[in-house]
Amino acid sequence: MKAAAIICAGGSGRRFGGDQAKQYRMLGERPVLAHTLGVFCAAPAVDQIIVVVPVADLDFVREKIVSFYGLNRIAAVVAGGERRQDSVYNGLQAVSRPCDFVIVHDGVRPLVTEAMIGRVLEAASTTGAACAGVRATDTIKKASADGRVEQTLPREALWLVQTPQAFSFDLLCRAHEQAARDDYTGTDDASLVEHAGGIVTMVEGAAFNIKITTPEDLAMAARRMTSERGDSRPIRAGFGYDSHRLVENRKLILGGVDIPFSRGLAGHSDADALVHAIGDALLGAAALGDIGRHFPDTDPAYANADSLVLLSRIKTLLDGAGLVVSHVDATVILEKPKLAPHADAMRANLARTLGIAVSRISIKAKTNEGMGFVGRGEGIAVFASATVAERITHGL
Ligand code: MG
Repeated sequence: MKAAAIICAGGSGRRFGGDQAKQYRMLGERPVLAHTLGVFCAAPAVDQIIVVVPVADLDFVREKIVSFYGLNRIAAVVAGGERRQDSVYNGLQAVSRPCDFVIVHDGVRPLVTEAMIGRVLEAASTTGAACAGVRATDTIKKASADGRVEQTLPREALWLVQTPQAFSFDLLCRAHEQAARDDYTGTDDASLVEHAGGIVTMVEGAAFNIKITTPEDLAMAARRMTSERGDSRPIRAGFGYDSHRLVENRKLILGGVDIPFSRGLAGHSDADALVHAIGDALLGAAALGDIGRHFPDTDPAYANADSLVLLSRIKTLLDGAGLVVSHVDATVILEKPKLAPHADAMRANLARTLGIAVSRISIKAKTNEGMGFVGRGEGIAVFASATVAERITHGL
C-alpha cells in the first residue's frame, strides 16, 4: 500500500493580518509549516510528501523551510491555485505512481500526530474516504445573515471537520475532475468526494489539532507544544576565557568583590577576569561576538568600568535575542589568594546582575601547581561556561 501526503499551504494568510502568511510564522524554534511537515516526514506510513504553496513562495519554501530544516523526505514543492481545491488538484498532479492512497492536510495544523494520520489511512483503506474531526460539544444553531436563528441542529449528528483526510487516490482524482466539470467549490476534499457520490467516514481527530488562524491560535499551539512535546526550549552552551596580569597598585576585583591582596589585575576596565570570562561565555551561547566587540578597550567610556555593569548590558543583549540565562559555571586559576571565603559574595553579585538564582551560579578555584604564568604568580586565568535557553516565541 503506497500513500502520498499533500500538505496544503497555499493560503496568503489574509485573515491573520500582518505581512507574513501564517504558515511561515514562528512557533517555538521553527515555522508552523516546518512543524507540520516534520510530523509527516516522521510517519513511516507516508511514502511521498508534496507541499503546495503560493507560486511566489516556491523558492522561499524550498530553501528556507525544506532545506533549512532538513526536511529531506519532501518529494516536491509545487505552486497552488486560486481556490483550496485548485491547490490540492495541483498537488495530485505531482504524485508519482503507483499510489494507492492520498492524505490531504492543512499546512497550518502543526499539532497533527502520526496516530491521527494512521487512523484516517486505516479507515480510508476500508471505506475509500475518511476525514478527521471532533464531535460537536457546543449546541450549533443555523442563523440568517442578520443573526436570527432559523434552526437548532441536532448536536448528536454534528462533527467539526479537520484534516488529515485520506482517500483512495483514484477516488480523489475522480472527485476533483467531477467538481471541475460541475463548477462545484467545496471547503474541504471530503465535500468533493460527497459531491461525486462517494462515502466518507468520520474518524476521531483531536480538539488540540487546531488550524492556526489567529495570533491566539499560535499562542495556544506554542503552549501545547511546550507541555506535550517539551521541545520548544532548545538549550545553547557558550564558552569563555580571560586572563589578566597581576600588578602592583591595582585592586583585585573578581566577581565584583574587592578582594584584599598585595596586587591586583591590570586592565582598561576594573579587569574583573571572572566577569569577563562569564560575559564571553554568555555572548558565545548567543552567537553575539565577544566582549571586545561590544565594549572595546580603546573606548574611554570603559576606563575603570565596573565589569558587572558590562555584564548587565550583556544580559540585555541576550534578552533582546530571546535568550534566558540558565546556568553559569566558572573556574578561576590562580596561586594566591584563596578565593573560597569570597565565593558566596561573588555568586550573589553575579546572580543579581543576571537576574537568576544563586543556585544557578557556580564558581570554583584552582592553583596551577606552580606551572606557567599562573604558577609564577604573573597573572590569573578564568574559564567559564554558560547555558542559555531560547525563550518560547509566538512569532508575533
Ligand atoms: Mg578581560
